[in-house]
Amino acid sequence: MNVAVIGSGVAGLAASIRLAHRGHSVTVFEANSYPGGKLTTVEKDGFKWDAGPSLFTMPDLVDEVLNLAEPLTENTFVYRKMSESCRYFWEDGTEVTAHENRRTFANEIEEKLGVKSFRVMNALRDSEQTYNAVSPLFLEKSLHKIPNLLNGNLIKLMSSFPKLNLHKTMHSVNKTRFKNQKLIQLFDRFATYNGSSPYKASGIMNVIPHLEHNIGTFLPEGGMYAITESLVQAAKSLGVEIQLNSPVKKIETSDKTVTGIVVNDTFKAFDAVVSNMDIVPTYRNLLPEQFADDAVLNQERSSSALIFYWGVKGNSEKLGLHNILFSDKYEEEFKALFETRALIDDPTVYINITSKYLKGQAPEGHENWFVMVNAPANTGQDWDAMIEKTRQNVIQKVERVLGFELSGNICCEEILDPRSIELKTGSYMGSLYGTSSNHWKSAFLRHPNFKQDIKKLYFCGGSVHPGGGIPLCLLSAKIVDELIAV
Ligand SMILES: Cc1cc2nc3c(=O)[nH]c(=O)nc-3n(C[C@H](O)[C@H](O)[C@H](O)COP(=O)(O)OP(=O)(O)OC[C@H]3O[C@@H](n4cnc5c(N)ncnc54)[C@H](O)[C@@H]3O)c2cc1C
Repeated sequence: MNVAVIGSGVAGLAASIRLAHRGHSVTVFEANSYPGGKLTTVEKDGFKWDAGPSLFTMPDLVDEVLNLAEPLTENTFVYRKMSESCRYFWEDGTEVTAHENRRTFANEIEEKLGVKSFRVMNALRDSEQTYNAVSPLFLEKSLHKIPNLLNGNLIKLMSSFPKLNLHKTMHSVNKTRFKNQKLIQLFDRFATYNGSSPYKASGIMNVIPHLEHNIGTFLPEGGMYAITESLVQAAKSLGVEIQLNSPVKKIETSDKTVTGIVVNDTFKAFDAVVSNMDIVPTYRNLLPEQFADDAVLNQERSSSALIFYWGVKGNSEKLGLHNILFSDKYEEEFKALFETRALIDDPTVYINITSKYLKGQAPEGHENWFVMVNAPANTGQDWDAMIEKTRQNVIQKVERVLGFELSGNICCEEILDPRSIELKTGSYMGSLYGTSSNHWKSAFLRHPNFKQDIKKLYFCGGSVHPGGGIPLCLLSAKIVDELIAV
């Protein structure tokens, strides 16, 4: 078949590789002048930052795609496993390092927070078991095809139903497990990995720590952007054509079957179309005449982010690759994100510094700080005022908690906010992960990877099943490939 892929995000690129590997003729149309969508870079004054994702988990999913092209091109994608996943800091001076080895991590928790190590070991074991029960049904297959539900996986899942904690919140599960406020907060924070609130998201989301603490965190040589570069190289080696600066304006259909797309005011015929765009603009802009399920499209969006890319003079000795400076007002922070749609004065701050491990990311004697706070999705807030205020709050927090003189050492700056995320990636309301998972039904309400009433139209990427984040986006590409192959 002749297949058009709309968008060159990680899922669009992965889908193009899988489809080309099956022998289809694939063209990717990308609105931007560069590929990768959210997975791109920012460069300034000798500094280089990953623009979006900074945490890399489940690298085998990238390898699986790249290996499809290996007979044609050498897989040069190299990454290392990190010996620690994150350093945590609290206002009262408590510091905890989450070591890769879970026993060492559990011992660190016992030493620093006074919670018996077996509690952490048990939580991580539960996380693994739930992940293994949930993954084959909820993540690896389309949730919307009856045969997938009728195989043994559903029966297996039903047998572990009470352990899934579907109707409890992540926070209530963690509160029962740990009692210690800091440890609860540490485990609650995994809700942000899909842009949700631990006070609302289902306890089933406690599968997320399994990825980080049991499988591990990884760092690609060259930074996260190496994922995009490698996928582009693999796609091209399989004959995929990537057309940049090519915003698709319409998906055309006839007799309830896709016929092609309109790009650069020209109709181009295709046998199948895979949209890697956010599902909301796909419907509103490209399929205005088609039936759209409002219950699906009007779901709450995931959180967005405010990011400061700072070139910093000096060496922040306390910080590692991933660092979290927790807010003392965690519940208030999530209420602001999802209810008042605001930022609190003391937000949790995430700092990622790749120059600590990778060469060429910052000039000698400097570091590349990627500093992010979770932000509400864009509903037209006064972002300029919010950015100015938050910038000061973040600098003060870093200086207060880490004792690092930051304000005089920022030598260059770029900023990304929910407006620019929306503008640059087409992500509706600037959300990072499509829809939020703030309800136990969220997984079921995500848009399927196909359109029930139109043949040969498929969807992949963070706004559709199984959800956002690089691993799930890669799985969505795999699901689409399998649907097309049937
Ligand atoms: C700041 C930030 C931090 C994040 N941190 C992490 C993290 O640490 N780990 C993690 O796993 N995930 C993280 N994520 C989420 C992750 O980046 C996304 O889930 C994933 O990259 C989304 O990929 P996608 O395939 O959905 O496509 P996207 O990256 O959303 O790309 C969609 C592409 O479609 C193109 N497009 C849109 N409309 C059109 C059109 N009409 N015609 C042609 N092209 C079009 C866009 O230009 C874009 O290139 C983060 C995201 C952000 C923004």
